[in-house]
Formats: sequence, structure tokens, C-alpha cells
Amino acid sequence: MTPESLGLFRANLRGELIQPADAAYEAARKVYNGMIDKHPTLITRCVDVADVVYAVNFARENSLLVAIRGGGHNGGGLGTCDGGLVIDLSRMKGVHVDPAARQVRVEGGCVWGDVDHATHAFGMAVPCGFVSTTGVAGLTLGGGIGYLTRAYGLTIDNLLAADVVLADGRLVRASNEENPDLFWALRGGGGNFGVVTSFLFRLQPVKIVHAGPTFWPLAQAADVMRAYRQFILDAPEDVNGFFAFLVIPPVPMFPEHLHNKTVCGIVWCCTAPPEKAEAALKPMRTFAKPVFDHVGPMPFTTLQSLFDGLYPAGLQWYWRADFVRDLSDPAIALHVEHGSQLPTMFSTMHLYPINGAAHRVGKNDTAYSYRDASFAEVIVGVDPDPANKDKITNWCTSYFDALHPYSAGGAYVNFMMEEGQERIRAAFRDNYDRLAAIKKKYDPANFFRVNQNIRPAT
Ligand SMILES: Cc1cc2nc3c(=O)[nH]c(=O)nc-3n(C[C@H](O)[C@H](O)[C@H](O)COP(=O)(O)OP(=O)(O)OC[C@H]3O[C@@H](n4cnc5c(N)ncnc54)[C@H](O)[C@@H]3O)c2cc1C
Repeated sequence: MTPESLGLFRANLRGELIQPADAAYEAARKVYNGMIDKHPTLITRCVDVADVVYAVNFARENSLLVAIRGGGHNGGGLGTCDGGLVIDLSRMKGVHVDPAARQVRVEGGCVWGDVDHATHAFGMAVPCGFVSTTGVAGLTLGGGIGYLTRAYGLTIDNLLAADVVLADGRLVRASNEENPDLFWALRGGGGNFGVVTSFLFRLQPVKIVHAGPTFWPLAQAADVMRAYRQFILDAPEDVNGFFAFLVIPPVPMFPEHLHNKTVCGIVWCCTAPPEKAEAALKPMRTFAKPVFDHVGPMPFTTLQSLFDGLYPAGLQWYWRADFVRDLSDPAIALHVEHGSQLPTMFSTMHLYPINGAAHRVGKNDTAYSYRDASFAEVIVGVDPDPANKDKITNWCTSYFDALHPYSAGGAYVNFMMEEGQERIRAAFRDNYDRLAAIKKKYDPANFFRVNQNIRPAT
């Protein structure tokens, strides 16, 4: 990299180019997870596809490591790097809804709140996650698990096309019709194949949902888990709810006597009509006496942003995950043992149901392979204080180690830290070799390697 080449790069950009000496650098280098402390050499905040093309070409010609940043939410901090170029898409926020076609085109720097806001006005939504501040790009490219998974599938099951800047600087479209191998790989294979500048999604009819939390005392956790495992596998697909161990936050929404109490609970989201939802949830909500039960109609956008305030950017964040086929009794006993010991108020364990519509797609139809798993488990150690880093990490890893033998073998890539090649192979299992062959075709030099990396086939 010479001053001339850098000057030319800067002159070509419409967006910003930020270097360590710039006032904006400290804020620009930070990602959502406060545990990540990386120092890129350059950060470019692209405003359009041309900026992305210039950035990719500049990095390739100057042998710079590249990290792609969508929403910056990745737990392992894969939206940044030490000593390379961060291609930050956070200024690319366009969302174009086509209500008649029931489609939405979303630029690569959007977070889900941007999309929810735009589509809610038309009574529609893209199946996304559980938090509105997560990036569309990273979440989608890993699969996309959320409140609407049982009803409408993973986010990738609603992806129609993506525009991608490849390692050689070409812009291509990936869809069932154009570059279908790339389209297959993008649906679960993460940021391995290029910079996605926009996504085209199918919209689903979702506006008001029947939703909210039901909490039970810890003493009932084993009974609740046993009831939940069967309930959620048999429930109608328009009924969803994830199981959690959590500490009730001291906020006015909850009665004071429950503040800071560790409980277990289910957070519901039903797209079924209210009477049907009430009838479907009744057996779970009444089988044991909850300490808090607050389920009713609310806009989908409200549900999506319910946890945003609790989890602002900058907290220390360490998580481990696995896919799970069955919740056996011994696994439930271990969950109760470790879930009762949440180390901080923000720490939690979630079990997301991933059956229903997501099971109707074959395990080799997209790069996301675990279509036979019923739950995505994620053990989350979180705290604002960096001094508690070891405390949350140790709790998280010992919980994970205890439960891993009961898992399906691999984890959802979006819930992984940097855990090594063996874990990456386990995440993609029988789809790994096909992904490696597609990686070789589209990125033979492994230019895009700051990710859950799929090595090009040799
Ligand atoms: C609070 C919180 C809640 C979450 N909730 C959910 C949830 O409900 N459901 C779920 O499925 N996941 C969830 N996740 C996990 C989330 O999907 C991943 O962390 C994901 O990586 C975040 O995407 P991002 O764009 O914000 O990440 P970034 O940190 O910006 O990027 C992560 C990786 O994605 C790739 N990437 C990002 N943008 C692009 C792009 N435009 N083109 C190509 N590759 C790109 C890159 O390889 C990068 O390494 C959550 C994470 C957090 C922290």
C-alpha cells in the first residue's frame, strides 16, 4: 500500500475512509461485543455498490486482510480484524418494499429494525431473529432463526436473490436462476463467498402477533422443560415460543418482588388468530402456576425490539451453542443444574425451536444443514463489566461442555465464537465438501477469510 494507491482509493470513494489517527477511528473500530478489541488499519464506510467494488479491488491489489461488517453483531467479532481493511456497510440502509409482489429489497448494511419498520406499514414481515438491532446480512447468511421460523421457515427460506461483489471485484446476482451454486452456498455458508450488497426477500403476512413472556419459578424448571419439549414439537406452526433461563430485570414492566430473581420461562410469538393462539397456549400456560404471565396482542415490531434496551452495544459477550435433536431427561437435569447458576443479570440460556416450516426444506437444499434438529441451543454469558469476563466465560464453557454430549454434534454458525476448523466442519457436516468446492470456484485464494471459514477445496 503506497500513499499514491491509498490516495486514489480515497478519491474513488463516496463513503468515508477512516484511519487510526482519525477522530472517528475509536468509535468506528468497535463492534457490538465489548470483548472484541481489534485494530484494523483502514475502515471504509461504503455508501454504494461502487464503493464496495473499489474496496474489494484495493484490498486484493494490496494484499490486505478483509473483514466485512453488516450489523457488527457477530459474537466472535467477525465484523472486524487486526491490521486489515474493514468493509463496513452500515451506511447502506436502503429498504424497498414491493407490496404487490410481496417482496422487499434490503441493502447489506441494514439491521432488522430497518426492515421491520418498512414492511410493518404494509402488514408484512421477513422471518428474521429475536432482536431488532442484529444485522440483516450476517444473520441471513448464517441461516436466520427467529420468532417466525416455525410458521415461515428460516430467513434463508425466504431469500429470493442476493447481489454479491466477488473477490475479483465482479458484481453478480445469485438466485435459483443465476449462479444457483452460489445461491445455495449463501443460504447458510456465511460471509465466505463475497460481499452481499443487497438481498431480495419474500414477505410474509405478519402484523399483530399474540406474544409475550410466561415465567415459572426455578423449582418447576425440569417440569416446564419436559412439558415444553413435546408441546413445541406438536404445536401448530403458527405458534412459537423459545425456552429460557433468565434473571428478571429490575424494570417497571415486572412486579418488584420478582426483580433480579432467576426463573425459567417461555417467550411466545403466535401468528395464529388470538382465539386460536389462546387455546393452543393454554395447556403450557396453566399446567403449573407461573409467577408472571403477560401474553396478548402486540405489533410484531414491538416484540422484535423488546430486548433491545436490555442488550445495548458494548457489553462483554461470550456464547457457545449446539443444535439439539431431543431434550432427554438427563440433558434436562444438566440444564437445570447449570441454568440455575446464571452468573450475571444479563446471562441467559435460550432454546429456539427450529421445526415446523424449517423442517420442510431438505438438509442438502441449502448450505444450512441441520434441518433434522429440533432446537438451537445457545448459552450466553453477558455483563457490562470487563472484570467479569472470566466469570461469564467459565460458566458458559462448563455449561456447554456438560450439554455437548447430548447435542446433534454441531452448532448454528451465527452462535459460534472462533472455535476452530473442527467445529466449523461440524456446523456444515455433509454440506462442507460442496461448500469448499463452491468456495474454490468463487474465492480460490480465500480472500474472504474473516468468517467461520470454509477453506477452498484443494
Ligand atoms: C444480541 C444478539 C441477538 C441475536 N439474535 C439472533 C437471532 O435471533 N437469530 C439468529 O439467527 N441470529 C441471532 N444472532 C446472531 C447473529 O445472527 C450473528 O451474530 C450475525 O453474525 C450478525 O450479523 P451482523 O451482520 O450483525 O454481523 P457482523 O458482525 O457485521 O458480521 C458477521 C459476519 O457476517 C458476514 N457478513 C456481514 N455482512 C456481510 C455482507 N454484507 N456480505 C457478506 N458477508 C457479510 C461476515 O463474514 C462477518 O464475518 C444474534 C446476535 C446477537 C449479538
